[in-house]
Amino acid sequence: MDKKVIIFSAPSGAGKSTIVKHLLSKFSCLEFSVSATSRAPRGQEEHGKEYYFFSTAEFEEKIRNGEFVEYEEVYKGSYYGTLVSEVERIWAKGNIIIFDIDVKGGVNLKKLYGENALAVFIQPPSVEELRNRLVGRGTDTPEAIERRVAKAEEELTYSDKFDVVLINDNLEEALQRAEKMVSEFASR
Ligand code: ADP
Ligand code: 5GP
Repeated sequence: MDKKVIIFSAPSGAGKSTIVKHLLSKFSCLEFSVSATSRAPRGQEEHGKEYYFFSTAEFEEKIRNGEFVEYEEVYKGSYYGTLVSEVERIWAKGNIIIFDIDVKGGVNLKKLYGENALAVFIQPPSVEELRNRLVGRGTDTPEAIERRVAKAEEELTYSDKFDVVLINDNLEEALQRAEKMVSEFASR
């Protein structure tokens, strides 16, 4: 069997987590790739569930040891990366890996996995709506929201490097289109 991966990338607040969670509940052949990060856990986040949490020193040690398929300093001082061990763990079970990863990481994984990857860019209807969603989510300080929105402008220019652009305006429609893409990719 092919070792397949599905990559979801987007500016923060576009709806990646919402769409990925929905797909995981619909398709038992999908398994979420838990990333490593050097940022601190937020709220109820647990090691091994949302992320593998490491100190900056531990993360840098893993970089030196070649333990990452890819990694990025997504926000200043915060590393995020995909562990080789995580990818191998999921493929060993015969599952398709689903990634929620920043746009640069998404492009790198698409280059690495080629035809075995479906790379989806989730596009918000506008930057203003992106800001509204981040405010509505209530997980970030006003400063963090402005940082994320400022970064979004650049991130939106990456959309043409993906296989598909999925506009997340009406959520129900976006979920249906996402389901259709995944089911076609999984069965091909
Ligand atoms: P990301 O994972 O890309 O940062 P989230 O999935 O956390 O984004 O979505 C950000 C916020 O926007 C959440 O509060 C979510 O419920 C909301 N949201 C997601 N999709 C839509 C949509 N199509 N319309 C309105 N709100 C949405
Ligand atoms: P957050 O801090 O909000 O959980 O995530 C910040 C950003 O890091 C999101 O855009 C998320 O997609 C990205 N991210 C999460 N895991 C990885 C990873 O393993 N590699 C890369 N390059 N980005 C990641």
